[in-house]
This record gives sequence, C-alpha cells and structure tokens, in this order.
Amino acid sequence: MTDLVLATKNSHKVHEIAAILPPGCRLRTLADFPPMEDIPETGRSFAENAAIKAKAVSAKLGGWALADDSGLCVEALSGMPGVLSARYAGVHGDDVSNNSKLMHELRVLPALAPYRARFVCSICLAREGEVRETFEGCLEGEIILSPRGVYGFGYDPLFVPKGYTRTLAEMRAEEKNSLSHRARALRQFAVVWQKICREE
Ligand code: IMP
Repeated sequence: MTDLVLATKNSHKVHEIAAILPPGCRLRTLADFPPMEDIPETGRSFAENAAIKAKAVSAKLGGWALADDSGLCVEALSGMPGVLSARYAGVHGDDVSNNSKLMHELRVLPALAPYRARFVCSICLAREGEVRETFEGCLEGEIILSPRGVYGFGYDPLFVPKGYTRTLAEMRAEEKNSLSHRARALRQFAVVWQKICREE
C-alpha cells in the first residue's frame, strides 16, 4: 500500500477527506512530519493553488501528496470570494468574519436575490514535485443571509445546496460527504489512486 500525504493544515479538510476516501488509503498528514513553513497560495484558480501545494509538499517530503484547494463563488459578487475564500475578511481561516462579510456584501444587493453560488474543490495529486493529475468537483446552491446549523466549517451555515432546504451546516458529516464538491472531486481521485496503488 502506498502512502499519501494530505498537503493541508486545515483539520476540517483532513477529516472530510479521510471520511470520504475508501478505507485502505494509507493517509498521512502534515502533522506526521516536522513543521513546514506555510506555502503562499498565489494562484489565480483553485487548480493552480492545489498544484502549488501538492508540488511543494511532494517535493519536500518525497513520494505522493494530495492537495485540496476549494472555495465559494457567488454569482452576485462576480465569483467572489473564490480563491480568496479562506481570507475574504482579511485573516486566513476566520470563518465567523468571512461569513459576516459575505452577508454584509449581499444584504446591499436585494435585487439580485436569491443568491446563486457554487462551491468548487480542486484536488491535485503530485509526486516528487510533479503534478500527476487534477480533479474538480462542484456543488451548486444558494446563499442565505442568516446562518443556520452547527456542523461542518467555513461557509456551510450560509449555503443551501440546490434541491435541499437545509444548509450544509444542518447536515451531519455523512450527508454532506455524500454530495459535497470535495466528495465529487475525491471520488474521481479514488479511481486513479486505486490504479496507482495496484501498479506500485
Ligand atoms: P483553502 O484552504 O485556500 O482551500 O480555502 C478554503 C476555504 O474555502 C475555507 O477556509 C472555507 O472558507 C471555504 N470552503 C472550502 N470548502 C468548504 C466547505 O466544504 N464548506 C464551507 N466552506 C468551505
């Protein structure tokens, strides 16, 4: 069985990825290695940022690395916050401030409601500093202006997937993981990874 390092320090992502991937994937996280400095996410797309992270970690640690770059694109905001999702309000990973800013930006645009949005997840698989393959998953939905739910992370309390009445934060992990952008990208990855593991 081949080791795969998850190139993220976001514990929410680690939990979701570990829960979605089939049992038998030998996952390591950055916590299993000596601390690495933060990798600047300078790409203009989710795929570029996922590649930057996967290449950097696989080059540094050797072997295989998988990186997830993801975020929320809101139609009424011309696709924002997009690749800036994690630091929309200024501080990386400050979910409360990011959600407040998003509600604030949309409240002044009532004519554009309902606020169509999509979560995007780009997954990059790299080996020894070289990209092997990239996978993308999307989840369409709408943004609401009062948060609901206690599960998940990030913008989950404001996002109602298309065809549902509950937010992602009102869904338990198994339900979110059955439909999320991350699950859609990871299911494609899992097929390729199984093949690689058989060949190695
Ligand atoms: P990244 O670490 O640069 O990929 O940033 C990801 C950011 O996008 C997170 O900090 C969240 O704000 C947002 N995000 C990505 N995936 C999700 C999700 O599944 N639920 C809610 N927010 C998400």
